Amino acid sequence: MKILVLNCGSSSVKYQLFEMKKNCVTAKGVVERVGEGDAISRYTRTGDGEVKEVLEVRDHTHAIKIAMQRLTDKEHGVIETKYEIDAVGHRVVHGGERFSDSVLINDEIIDCIRDFSRFAPLHNPANLKGIEACSELIPGVRQVAVFDTAFHQKIPRHAYTYALPLRYYHKLGIRRYGFHGTSHRYVAQQAAKELGRPLEELKLVTCHLGNGVSITAVRDGHSVDTSMGFTPLEGVVMGTRCGDIDPALVPYLMSTEGLSAKEVDRVMNKESGLLGLSERASDMREVLDGMNDGDEKCALAFRIFCYRIRKYVGAYAAVLGGLDAVVFTGGIGENSGVVRDEICTGLEFMGIDLDEKRNAANEVSIGKGSVKVLVIPTDEELAIAKDTIAVLQNQVQTKCSDS
Ligand code: ADP
Repeated sequence: MKILVLNCGSSSVKYQLFEMKKNCVTAKGVVERVGEGDAISRYTRTGDGEVKEVLEVRDHTHAIKIAMQRLTDKEHGVIETKYEIDAVGHRVVHGGERFSDSVLINDEIIDCIRDFSRFAPLHNPANLKGIEACSELIPGVRQVAVFDTAFHQKIPRHAYTYALPLRYYHKLGIRRYGFHGTSHRYVAQQAAKELGRPLEELKLVTCHLGNGVSITAVRDGHSVDTSMGFTPLEGVVMGTRCGDIDPALVPYLMSTEGLSAKEVDRVMNKESGLLGLSERASDMREVLDGMNDGDEKCALAFRIFCYRIRKYVGAYAAVLGGLDAVVFTGGIGENSGVVRDEICTGLEFMGIDLDEKRNAANEVSIGKGSVKVLVIPTDEELAIAKDTIAVLQNQVQTKCSDS
């Protein structure tokens, strides 16, 4: 079975084609700067070099058409016609309170995704464009939505409710939703395999450390608390996001600096985090380079980043009432022994103790204390492809039991 996984952003379309018999990617690519005269298409057939082109890309439908042309290209393609694609799995950012699982897309689901655009105005409309483009380009091919928020839908009420007047929850849906759910779920499942124990028995803290950063407490196989909130801004320090701050700083900045709500939002989302602190880069590798060159602002950014994660690990161990393993993933979590070491330093009292050599070598199991510490590469696309198959199989079973 061939599954196309699509991740449509406001100006980019990322795609991967999976051959599910072997759980492997046969080709992948990205179209960036969608809507521009000088968009960039990058395409790689597994095992080959990248094919890069600069071209005009009108919109998402055009971008997906280009993706399908690459996939069916005589020289570099991996399928003969686009109708070899059995189904499409879409990453959809916001599923509100409606979706705690992946679903087969139909008109009603499309209306819901559109409705949740009020919570994710940059992402859900782009995800919808991808869905609509596939309906146009490969009509009749089934499509599945996999939501970033779904894994967090079992977070208990006392953990997802903000202490604002309760009417705002009822009127506006203001609550913690959480994000990166597909990644947290995937690495939690992989961690259980690695530990050789059922996921349902484990207490885990999963740390997704990429450009966006979030920490999740996992118990009984699902998220019971997570650091991102109503939006991805809450929680720990990220590449350009500030994470938790005193909320009174928002009106304070507005009045003292004469900023509009939109401008403060931009400061907190785009100019803060590692970038704002280091005044140099949002990218952790550059921050680490700066620190190694003696740049004090980079050293401070690194220390704050790790300290705030350490606080969440401690808090979530309390939420879980114990801890079996801490899992690191994402570009930083998978590759930076220095960051993992700084986060875990001081947590020996909890049984979190790193083996220096295994940590430096990015091995899978890097702890030597009673709590396991694991480095597990995330693979959100594979998780989406597997969900797509599972939803389709469920459909078949439901139809059989109905008839
Ligand atoms: P995204 O969240 O966009 O998917 P990634 O998960 O790829 O991003 O993570 C990007 C981050 O990972 C960047 O801050 C980058 O500097 C960091 N990173 C990648 N490799 C390393 C490394 N070897 N050491 C430290 N940080 C790294």
